[in-house]
Order: sequence, then C-alpha cells, then structure tokens
Amino acid sequence: MAYPDYIKTKVGPNLWRVDDCGYVYYQDRQGHIYNPCYNCGELTPERQLDDYENNCPKCWREAHSCYQCGEYCEKLHEGQDGHSYCDPCFIEYLLEQHQRRNNMDLNQFVKWQQEKPKTRHVNIEITYDETKIWVYDFALMVGQHVKSVEEIHLEGVREAREKVEYERLKAKFEGGTNCQQQNSDALTE
Ligand SMILES: [Zn+2]
Ligand SMILES: [Zn+2]
Repeated sequence: MAYPDYIKTKVGPNLWRVDDCGYVYYQDRQGHIYNPCYNCGELTPERQLDDYENNCPKCWREAHSCYQCGEYCEKLHEGQDGHSYCDPCFIEYLLEQHQRRNNMDLNQFVKWQQEKPKTRHVNIEITYDETKIWVYDFALMVGQHVKSVEEIHLEGVREAREKVEYERLKAKFEGGTNCQQQNSDALTE
C-alpha cells in the first residue's frame, strides 16, 4: 500500500506531528523539534533529549537523585539493593552493609550444620560488600541461598522440586502419542 512520504498534522496550539518517511517527530511554528521522553512520554525539546539521554529534565533528575538524601548527582553508585546513591551516601550504605554483616550470627550456621554433620554443608563467602551463604543437604540433594538459619527450608525446596519433576513425568507419560510425535518433530526441525 502506498504511503505518503510526508504528513503534517496539527496536534495542539503551535504544535504539529510530522511523519517524514516513517520517522515521526513534533514541531512548532518556530521550527523547534520535540520528541517524547523515553521514560514518561512527555514531549520534550530535542536539545534537552540530547542532553539528558532521551529523558525529559524531570525524569533525568529523578534517575539521578540519590535514593537516600534525594540530592541530584550526575554520577551515582548502584547498590546491591537496586537503589542508586551519591558518594557520601554510598559510603554510608557500604558501612551499613558491613555493620549488618558483622552482626550476622555465623555461629548459628555452625550449629545448624552440626545437627546433621554427615549430610549438611554450609558455604560462606565474604566479599567487600556482602556475605553469601549457601546451605546444602546431601541427603535431600537440595541447596539454598540464605541470610539466616530461619530462612532455611530445604524440605520445602525439595518438595517443590519433586512436584515439578512429577508434573514433567506425568505430562510425558500421560500426554499420549500425539505429544511424543510433536516433541520428536520439534527436535528434528
Ligand atoms: Zn520524562
Ligand atoms: Zn545521597
């Protein structure tokens, strides 16, 4: 189907939508070009979008505000918690993490392991900004990442895994020949 190369539609006072060979932008009478902010969709002068990585000034500001103090900062640090921090707040955040780690009672894992010393296994990895704890039971053949012994529920993990396996086998053997046919087709394609 033929499509006009250039369409100009009035969309507001002193604002037109221009479709130029499939490339869409907005323009005012003075020739200033606007485009939607990548984040919120607000029409924003092209020059600002260029300055703010395709964001409107408001979204840019929000994306560059420290999670803790709210200060605008060009360069933020990404914390393990998924939030961004300015320099001083990031240091505070790391110290807090450090504090929390020191308060972590690692002895409780020793006790947990000793309850079933032949099958239980605890792996503790301490790095500059976090402590990773992996617990495993060789009898159950399941493991978990946890922060405290209260979080350990290996039997539950085991049960969930068995249920998934059961559903898989059930689908395999009760699915009938149709299903198997489809599977082998899929494999050969
Ligand atoms: Zn925006
Ligand atoms: Zn801050």
